[in-house]
Amino acid sequence: MAGNWKMNMTHLQAIAFVQKLAWTLKDADHDYEQVEVAVFPPFTALRSVQTLVDTDKLKLVYGGQDLSQHDSGAYTGDISGEFLAALGAKYALVGHSERRTIHGEDDAVCQAKVQAALKHGLVPVLCVGETLEQREATDTPWDVPVAQLRAGLAELPNGAEIVLAYEPVWAIGTGKVATAEQAQEVCAALRAALVEELGEERAAATRILYGGSVKPDNVASIMREPDIDGALVGGASLKIDDFASIVRYRNHVGI
Ligand code: PEP
Repeated sequence: MAGNWKMNMTHLQAIAFVQKLAWTLKDADHDYEQVEVAVFPPFTALRSVQTLVDTDKLKLVYGGQDLSQHDSGAYTGDISGEFLAALGAKYALVGHSERRTIHGEDDAVCQAKVQAALKHGLVPVLCVGETLEQREATDTPWDVPVAQLRAGLAELPNGAEIVLAYEPVWAIGTGKVATAEQAQEVCAALRAALVEELGEERAAATRILYGGSVKPDNVASIMREPDIDGALVGGASLKIDDFASIVRYRNHVGI
């Protein structure tokens, strides 16, 4: 279960938040082996989160919301995978729809970022998803996400670990959650594409997250779907009780 904080929380707020989240999950006896918990703070909070995680020996992991496709040099404002790895980050988001639309990142940039993450020992979380316009223009709404997957994973080194996040753009931050059936339909197509790209075994071992207005009251139905292995959570990851409840979705009725 991954919380994408976006451009929220100073490093001081991040410390207080992670401390309270860890206490809440400890009180609830959360089993991190069963459900991994990852947070994606802004870059400016990563060092503070690292210090807290190391000092208090917390089991949650963290990552960057983006990374540069370059290693170092004249790229003002960018953050390299090497810097994230040096801060103990495990993951890096790649191609979040806000990066694709606001920052104009295309599939080639995302592919280069996947490669850069892997080069520095990070697990890329490749985000894919269609806009409402793209969904409404077709009977096969998985076309765009599958094409983004194939482009992003081009020339993937043998054995490289990646995570996929299916995030329909029309469901991000809008309160419009895809139905569990809609999410599963696309995630099944993504899994089938993974089989073609990586083979059965690696495809089965690759986690596919769903993202888009996930909340405590809809996470259980989404997680029941066979090709959905976790969630990438935006808004609800900023509320400790909501995020802790999402993390503990197995305790919800029927799971
Ligand atoms: C996201 O930003 O990745 C996201 C899914 O946001 P939200 O949960 O707020 O829709």
